[in-house]
Formats: sequence, C-alpha cells, structure tokens
Amino acid sequence: MIVYIHVPFCRTRCSYCAFQSTALGRGVEAAGSPLVRDYVDTLLLELAHWADRFGGAEIQTVFWGGGTPSLLPPRIVGIVLDRLASRFNLGARAEITLEANPESLRSATRAAEFRAAGVNRLSIGIQTLNENMLRAIGRAHKGKDSLHAAFVAREAGFANINLDMMWGLPGQGIRQWLQTLKDVVRMNPDHISAYGLTLEPGTALELAVGEGRAALPPERDQSIMFMEGSAFLEASGYLHYEISNFARMGFQCRHNLGYWEGQDYLGMGPSATSTIAGRRWTNPSDQRAWANRVSAARLDDNAEKLTPGARALETLMLRLRTARGLRLKSWKDITGRDLLSGNKKLIQAMHENKLIRIRNGYLSLTRGGMLVSNTILLNLFERADAMLQSGAPEPAEAARAW
Ligand code: SF4
Repeated sequence: MIVYIHVPFCRTRCSYCAFQSTALGRGVEAAGSPLVRDYVDTLLLELAHWADRFGGAEIQTVFWGGGTPSLLPPRIVGIVLDRLASRFNLGARAEITLEANPESLRSATRAAEFRAAGVNRLSIGIQTLNENMLRAIGRAHKGKDSLHAAFVAREAGFANINLDMMWGLPGQGIRQWLQTLKDVVRMNPDHISAYGLTLEPGTALELAVGEGRAALPPERDQSIMFMEGSAFLEASGYLHYEISNFARMGFQCRHNLGYWEGQDYLGMGPSATSTIAGRRWTNPSDQRAWANRVSAARLDDNAEKLTPGARALETLMLRLRTARGLRLKSWKDITGRDLLSGNKKLIQAMHENKLIRIRNGYLSLTRGGMLVSNTILLNLFERADAMLQSGAPEPAEAARAW
C-alpha cells in the first residue's frame, strides 16, 4: 500500500493553482494556528481509524503533498510518521517524501529537522528561477531561496531531492526556459519534474489571461520548450520516465510509480482520495466536513466500486503516461481484446506520425506523442471503452497481472 497525506495550508495562494488549500498568510506560524492544530488532531484520528481497519499492512511509500507540507512543524511530521510506523508495517526502505516550498527552508536547521523526523525525500517547489515570473505567478519565494533550499537539503543529508519546475509561464521565452533548466541541473537534483502550465478554470491567472493582463507563450514556443527541454534533461543524465518526470537512474519516484502501476493507495487529509481493494472514495475538501466524517468514522460510506473494465481503462491511461508504456499481452489477457488489431487505422496513423512506438510487446508514446498526450489518450480511451462495451465478457479481475 502507498500512503498520501494532504496538508491543506499554504503561505499565500499562487495565481495558477486549483489545489485545495487555505492561505495562512505571511508571518503566521503554522504551529500557532488553531486551524492547523485542528487539522493535526483530525489527521491523527483518521490515521487511528485506518489503522484499526488495515493495521499491519505494509506501506512502501508515504507522500506528504499539498498545499505546503513544509509549513508543518517537523516535530508534527515526526509524530505522524511514528504513529504510522507503530500501527502499520513501515519499513526502513520506505520512500518518505515531503513537498517543501523554498521559503520554508530559509532557516538553516529546518531541512535537517525534517530529515530527523523520518523524511528521506524532499520535493522542492521551485517552478522558475526568474524573479519576474515568480511574482507573476504569485509564488512566495525568490530565486535565491531556491538555490539555498537545494543546498541546505543536501547539507542536511537528503540523498534524494526532486525539484519541481514549470514551463509555459506568462512571459517565458524558449531560451529563458532552457537556461533555467541548465541552472537547475547545476543544482544537482536527483529528480526533476517539469510541468507545462495549464490554465485552471476559476484561478486568478485564468482571469488575468482572459482580461489580457497576462499572456502565455505561443503554442509553438511551448512545444519547443517541452521537446528541447526534455532532450536537454536526458542528455544531462535524467531519464525521461514519465511525461513530466525525469530521474537519475534509480531515483524514479516510487510513490508516483505506485499510482501509475495501479497499486492500492490510502489518502488522508481533506480532499485526499483512496483506492483499496477495488473501492474508491474521496474525503471532503472542506476541513470541517472532513473532521465530521472522521469523527463519525464514515469516510468510505459512499465508496465507488470500480468494475474490472474501469480499472483496465484506467491502467491503460496511466501506463501510457510512462516511457515504458502498456504491455499489450497483459491488456489482451485481462480484457480479452486486442488493442492493436481492434484499432488498426488509428494505430497506423499514429505510428506513421511518430506519435507512438511498439517495441518488445509494449505500446508507448514517443516524445512527440507525449506532447499531445491528452488528445492521444482521450482517443485511445474512447476506442478501448467501446471495445470493452462491445458485448464480450467483462475483463478479468486481475489488475496485478499488468
Ligand atoms: S504553494 Fe502549491 S498548493 Fe499552495 S497555492 Fe502555490 S501551487 Fe498551490
């Protein structure tokens, strides 16, 4: 099992963000906030609830995401990890990631305190090193904070560091993005996530772009940022193992691989989703509603039962995000359908346009295919869904066979 813990607090809100979080404001110490104290109490209660149900289960990875988990006092992170270790089987080899924003690591000792609390992988949200762009997207840190954060994380003994970056930001040019990547590689991370900015409905940035107060780079420039940026990172020793993720050999994020490979996951905290034994549920995103559900021990009352067909389709979508791709024989064994021969024309067209490759029994996207992955995945999803609805027997319940 893999575990996700959602921390719904940020210092301030970034203009592009649609994640669930409450801004505590600058200068507010998380430790002193009643909202944060209530959150921690409820989180420990939720953990105890799941421990009564699944206690003793092996946990391979824990991921503290948000929000800004690094706002939490390291002592609290340590207490939660200790509870997990005492009620579940959390081995010494478990990957324990904490998302951190650079401004939270300004103090010289904080990274070391998270390390001492049991965190062994830090994922630092840098996004860009350019001051104008940091301001334009409403980040609370400066470029120099990022350099400092990566440095103190290494000094604190973190042997596994991810830096989160974004391309396609307002005012960003191709050369500037490629220069940023060069600077980031010099910071010597083990893993780099590079996400293309998406304009989320209802965000301040979407409004600004709609009103002409901000402009995103032209689509052609964004394509070049992805293609050349990815090629540069690979040439610098970072394996392009998923559409937005690059890692040195052996440093792929085990937690995210768990999602893409269809492992069971337990999500705790407001808005966190869980999928266990073919059932899926999502916690309320409102903190009070979540706390009420936890106190009543009614978190998975309305769990959705995933059919084998739905799981097969989901696996198809997730596997095709990875460089390894989808094992065609497994798809056929489980669904009873041949994905290639059932969609000959589409597959042939994508192959001729160098959007997909079929190698050693796996179907995967090329880098050009990754660039237009949304369109390809949607197309394949619809075709595969139609195949599964076509009267043949329901796929076998055999997600593990992938
Ligand atoms: S710090 Fe992260 S979660 Fe918080 S508002 Fe910014 S992007 Fe969203």
